[in-house]
Amino acid sequence: MSGESFNPYRMAQQQFDGVAQQLGLDEATRALLRVPDREVHFNIPIRMDDGGYQVFRGFRIHHNTARGPAKGGVRFHPQETADTVRALAMWMTWKTAVVDIPLGGGQGGVICDPHNLSMREQEALCRGWVRKIVDVLGPDRDVPAPDVMASAQHMVWMLDEYEQLVGRKAPGAMTGKPIGLGGSLGRIESTGYGVIFAVREALAELGSRIEDATASVQGFGNVAQHAIDLFHSYGGTVTCVSSWDQKEQAAFCFRKKDGVQLKELRSMTNSYGEISRAKAADAGYEVLPGDAWIEQEVEVLIPAAMENQINRDTVKNIKGSVKMIAEGANGPTTPPADAVIKERGIWLLPDFLANAGGVTCSYFEQVQSNMNYFWTRDEVISKLDSKMTDAYYAVSHMARRRSIPMRDAAYMIAIARVAEACKLRGWV
Ligand code: GLU
Repeated sequence: MSGESFNPYRMAQQQFDGVAQQLGLDEATRALLRVPDREVHFNIPIRMDDGGYQVFRGFRIHHNTARGPAKGGVRFHPQETADTVRALAMWMTWKTAVVDIPLGGGQGGVICDPHNLSMREQEALCRGWVRKIVDVLGPDRDVPAPDVMASAQHMVWMLDEYEQLVGRKAPGAMTGKPIGLGGSLGRIESTGYGVIFAVREALAELGSRIEDATASVQGFGNVAQHAIDLFHSYGGTVTCVSSWDQKEQAAFCFRKKDGVQLKELRSMTNSYGEISRAKAADAGYEVLPGDAWIEQEVEVLIPAAMENQINRDTVKNIKGSVKMIAEGANGPTTPPADAVIKERGIWLLPDFLANAGGVTCSYFEQVQSNMNYFWTRDEVISKLDSKMTDAYYAVSHMARRRSIPMRDAAYMIAIARVAEACKLRGWV
C-alpha cells in the first residue's frame, strides 16, 4: 500500500475490519461503521480576481453522529479526494470517542491550492463551501475546524457566512476561530501539545527521561511547530525537521546535530510552514533530502505532515535507536509498516490518540463559545493535559493487558464506545 496505490479510506476500513473482528462486532454494527453515514459532494463556483470563473470541488462527510454532532476539519489541498475525506471522517469518529468527548466524526475539504489563491478568492471559497452545505452544519449538527492549509481566518469567514444565512449568532458552529472572536486560548497549540503530553507519558512508561530524549519531526506546520515547542520546554532535543517546498514541489529536511532552534526556524518560514533553504543553510543547518527525517538516530519520530509517510518502503529506514513513533498527522503509517513496527517492538502512539488534542480543545472552544465565558490559557492547557493523559493510559493499559499494539487498543476502546452509543439509540 505504498506509492500510487495508497488509498487512505481502504486503509481506514482495513484497520476497522481487523479490530471489529477481534471485538466480535455484530454484522449490522460493522455495516453501519465501516462506511460514512452521509456524504455531500458539490461544486463551488468562484469569481476569480482576473474576472473569470473557476469551479472547485468541495466535500463534507459525516461518518457517525451517535455520540454527538459531527466534528472534524476542513482541508484545502490540491490532492484532496473523496476517499481521503472519508478516511479522515472515520478517524474523527474514533478520535472523539477515544478521548471521550460528546462529538461524532466528520471531515470536509476542497480540491484547491491556497498558494495560488488571493485572500479574496480564499474568502469566496470559504463562503461558497458553507453556502452549499448550510443544511447539514450547525452547533448541534456538524462543527468544522481547520485541517491542512486551513486557518483561523478561514474559520471566521465560514462562521460569518453561516451566521448570515441562519440569521443569528452561532459561535459554537465552527472551532479554531481567532482569539477574541470566539476562539479558545490554547487551541492553536493544542494538537502539537497533545502529541507531546502523550509522548511524555509514554517515555515515562518506557523508563526514559524526556529531558534526555531526541526527536526527528516530519513537517513544520502548526502541529509540528507546537510539538517541537513543548518537547523543547520539557528539555528534549529535536535534531531534524522537514518542510515542504512549494516551488520545488518537494520536501527538504533541516538538521542540526545539537538541536534545531524553533524561533530561528520560524523566522525563516512562511505561513504554510515552508522553511527557506537558503536562509537555513546560512544559519548553519544541514539541508537534506525530504525523506531524511525518518533515518535519524533519535528515540522519537514524529510524523506531523500527511498520510502514507511510513510505509512498506520507508519503514526499513527507521534506525535501531527509535523507541517510539508519535503520529501527529492523520494516517501517516500504513498497515504493512505497522506490522514491521510491531515486530521491532517500537511503541507507536496512533494518530487518533496522539493528535486528539486539537479536537479536544475544539470541544473546549465550543463549550466556551456556547456559554459565552472564556477560560484562561492555563485552564485550557491543564484540562487538555488531563484528557490526553487519561486517554493515553486507558489505551496503554488495554494494549499491555491484551498484548496488542497501541493502535488496536485505541481502536478497541473507540469502536466499543461508538458501537455502544449506536446500540443505546436503537440504531443496530
Ligand atoms: N483537523 C483536526 C484533526 O484532525 C481538528 C479537528 C477538529 O478540531 O474538529 O484533529
